[in-house]
Amino acid sequence: MKDHSKLDFNTKCVHSGIDEYEYGSVVPPIYQTSTFKFKSAQHGASLFAGEEKGYIYTRMLNPTIEAMENAIAELEGGHKALGCASGMAATHTIFSSLLNTCDHVVCSAAVYGPTTTLLNTVMKRFGVETTFVDSAVNENVHSAIKENTKVVYVETPGNPTLCISDLEAISKIAHNHGAKVVVDNTFMSPALQNPIAFGADVVMHSLTKFLNGHADVVGGIIVVKDEDTYKHFRKTLNQLGGVIDPFNSFLVHRGLKTLGLRMQKHCENAQKVAEWLEKHPLVKSIRYPGLKSHPHYNIGKKQQKGSGGMITFEVEGGLEAGKILMNSVKLCQLAVSLGGVESLIQHPASMTHFSMGKEARLSGGITDGLVRISVGIENANDLIVDLEQALEKVNQANLIEEVV
Ligand SMILES: *Cc1c(COP(=O)(O)O)cnc(C)c1O
Repeated sequence: MKDHSKLDFNTKCVHSGIDEYEYGSVVPPIYQTSTFKFKSAQHGASLFAGEEKGYIYTRMLNPTIEAMENAIAELEGGHKALGCASGMAATHTIFSSLLNTCDHVVCSAAVYGPTTTLLNTVMKRFGVETTFVDSAVNENVHSAIKENTKVVYVETPGNPTLCISDLEAISKIAHNHGAKVVVDNTFMSPALQNPIAFGADVVMHSLTKFLNGHADVVGGIIVVKDEDTYKHFRKTLNQLGGVIDPFNSFLVHRGLKTLGLRMQKHCENAQKVAEWLEKHPLVKSIRYPGLKSHPHYNIGKKQQKGSGGMITFEVEGGLEAGKILMNSVKLCQLAVSLGGVESLIQHPASMTHFSMGKEARLSGGITDGLVRISVGIENANDLIVDLEQALEKVNQANLIEEVV
């Protein structure tokens, strides 16, 4: 492949992947095939033996998928990447590749909910123990590490509280103990944060979010730093079977071309919306990495090139106020997921985290009035006008006395 290392990120977004496609096609052709014909028995044998480069079967490798994988590996500053059927398939493939029975994981407490559940159920059944820590405090990570700790799993900024963990410090701590550092970089995308540059060994993304960016694909990706790890992970992925398909890879690759532009706009909009919300009398508290009030503002500035599109805030008036807000927005759409061009809003206490129960929610920092917004690429003022009229509905409901 051509050397793109000196090019600007936006140029890489447009040009990374594979240099030349068949017939001079400018965009990656969709190889919608499950299998590939061998030229001869000898050819098939040498492909299986790994003596020759080529394609055998789409679960193992496919040119459309490979082009998307190469593009993301390049944007993340990694060696190679592995496309998966979802972000969770990527996380499962990582755990299955790196862990054995009786191994131990240290994991950020603020992670995507199903990641916690995967560790606490399936991985636990297979004999893997996990300690969850507030990884924004380096010392917590250090003191949780045991002799059998093989993986330190960090999500930063974490979901949904947006707490930020110091990737460089945590990588040093983990490596001192021979553990691998895995980073869920979904909230930042490679445009805003490159964990490998701070010492991480493996990076994963839910492609479903900012990387694809158009809310029309479910997918995941794993980025690794060296060929041996790549081969080991590829074997595991091939056995588990959670691969992405050619058409979704094509869509993600198309989305990547505007990643730099989209992230810039997400950051600009979220900054404006966050600054406006911070001054609103009905906003009890707000977390956005671009606000000086964020408790880990300085770590964010050190390792992030931008503050991202995610805002979490607490509206005065608790659960009821949260519900009124959700029912009153007109432009922001009431839906889970994030990272698309359209703004989405959700209320964890009555939605994604309802089943946890109030006590468990509170211990995870999820208060009744907590609202999460994925700020899209619309005009920021249009979003502010929408939130303003929705907060006015909350105001009219006179719920303030109910504040606990
Ligand atoms: C959505 C998400 C995942 C899981 O990805 P899926 O594609 O839904 O499986 C993992 N981590 C984070 C931070 C996410 O937002």
